[in-house]
Amino acid sequence: MIVTQGDILKKLPILALAFCLFFLFHQAVHAEDGLTKVTGSIYSYADVKGASPKNSFGANAGIIIGKDFLVAVDSLISAREAKRFIKDINKISKKPIKFLINTHYHLDHSLGNSEFAQLGAIIIAHENAQANMQKAGEGMLQYAKQSGLSDQDMKGTKLAYPTLTFPDRVTLNLGKSKIEIIFLGPSHTTGSVLVFLPQEKVLFTGDILFTDFHPFLGEANIEGWIKVLDYIMAMDVDKIIPGHGPISSKKDVADLKNYLLVFDQKAKELTAQSKDLNFIAAEMKKSLPPRPQLESLIARNIQMKYLPQGNQSQPQAK
Ligand SMILES: [Zn+2]
Repeated sequence: MIVTQGDILKKLPILALAFCLFFLFHQAVHAEDGLTKVTGSIYSYADVKGASPKNSFGANAGIIIGKDFLVAVDSLISAREAKRFIKDINKISKKPIKFLINTHYHLDHSLGNSEFAQLGAIIIAHENAQANMQKAGEGMLQYAKQSGLSDQDMKGTKLAYPTLTFPDRVTLNLGKSKIEIIFLGPSHTTGSVLVFLPQEKVLFTGDILFTDFHPFLGEANIEGWIKVLDYIMAMDVDKIIPGHGPISSKKDVADLKNYLLVFDQKAKELTAQSKDLNFIAAEMKKSLPPRPQLESLIARNIQMKYLPQGNQSQPQAK
């Protein structure tokens, strides 16, 4: 069979996800015990120790409780995981879940969508996130299985695409507080957004921020990502809920910026000298700030983003 460049490009987001999840799978498993109060009427999973397919690879998700309804941020990896999330939500509030925001399309943040849609929630995402999800299509379910989730784990999981998309930003009014959903350009993915509560000074970043985890850069636009991190540094926020990791502060944002700058510079230098992935990864480890989780992503990120030759999984660099 002749594989064209077009075919490869079509599959890139899926391949990127698969690699991401493959490495996340190697983390230790820790059960998550319910939602944690962030502040006021905002709750989140956060600081899930380790990651496995069964706990959505440690992805964080949360809720904002308004006067008459509540809003969820991300839906975890499967119907089962979304049910766990909804059960935990109901322990805190019985108000209807009127909106679900997807911070981006990656499956550990969006494959639980249909459970929320069944409850009548409107799913909101950036228009690029919706396009990414539609392009990936049923492949997202396949990759969940290939990443270690069984048929039983995925039972009842169906794709549910965002029904409300926007180009730049949109605001949800919840009575006394409001939620600003902000797109600033490509970063972790081409459709990653920030979910900001200005009154509460709380920010959900999705995977724009990884704390304590090496970040996944397979689909990254480094320059754009750094601009978004700079934007966060200038925001009036006290508490930041990252895509993976504990509740964070601006120090963690600065740390990730530094990490990305070092990674990008060093990766370009090393790949100009050598195409030996093992050598490059070993050298990278000497230069990068240490992070306790997902060290194996260093080599994968190099392979996917900086060594296109002979690597069909190289995503479009921007
Ligand atoms: Zn992601």
